[in-house]
Amino acid sequence: MSFFDTHAHIYDRRYEEAGTDIRDILARCAASGVTRILIPGDSKESSMAAVAAADGFSGTSGVELFASVGIHPHEAKTYDADVEAYLRECMESREGSKILAIGEIGLDYYYDLSERTVQREVFEKQLMLAYEYDVPFILHERDATGDCLDILRRFHKEGKLRKLPGVCHCCSCSPEASQELIKMGFFIGFDGPLTFKNNKKTPEVLRGTPLDRIVIETDSPYLTPEPNRGSVNEPCHVPYVCMKIAEIKGISLEEAARITYDNGNELYNIS
Ligand SMILES: [Zn+2]
Repeated sequence: MSFFDTHAHIYDRRYEEAGTDIRDILARCAASGVTRILIPGDSKESSMAAVAAADGFSGTSGVELFASVGIHPHEAKTYDADVEAYLRECMESREGSKILAIGEIGLDYYYDLSERTVQREVFEKQLMLAYEYDVPFILHERDATGDCLDILRRFHKEGKLRKLPGVCHCCSCSPEASQELIKMGFFIGFDGPLTFKNNKKTPEVLRGTPLDRIVIETDSPYLTPEPNRGSVNEPCHVPYVCMKIAEIKGISLEEAARITYDNGNELYNIS
């Protein structure tokens, strides 16, 4: 059985603080059947770190690594001509590289770490990059569903979303909003919160998500699933998310692993 953790920030400095490093993380992945990981960027620096990790450690312990580059809504205020030039350079040289997508991009009105007008502007700029270079994107949306859907609807209407535009990562929107995203062709990403006992909304989103639209993620080092909740998260925990999906969807773990693995490949256009 193989698992594809489609979202893990394994370059995060929390690992160093916890006395572990990428080699240890990958060794634990191999022992848990996690054979593919996509490492997303959220700033220019972390995008560079994601690409460096994917280049430097792919194949270590038999785990294949991929990366995405993009500016998270928290970091929207840092988006300037230099950052855009970097993203374009990544897109132009991505053939044969480990870079598969733009992300994380989107809107976050929960933390509001960048001004909302700036968040929207930077989100739209990166949506245009994804369209221009014909790559999927990783959507981060928190407490901003209305504005986020408005922007995506407009892009969709103008024909500027790909047939499979990307993934709603760590989906926290309503079941209704997730249905609209699925109709636009999005995959829905599920993480640790699906396993939290008091969480009623995410299982409902999952029940409404067709099997061919589900991908699994850890969002490491955050959102550690049960039964390890509270510790620093690692990709080796992604099977717990998959187990919960199997339970809710009434399929075997093997099936859930195979389906979500294939979906991850389809989302990121790899074989
Ligand atoms: Zn993330």
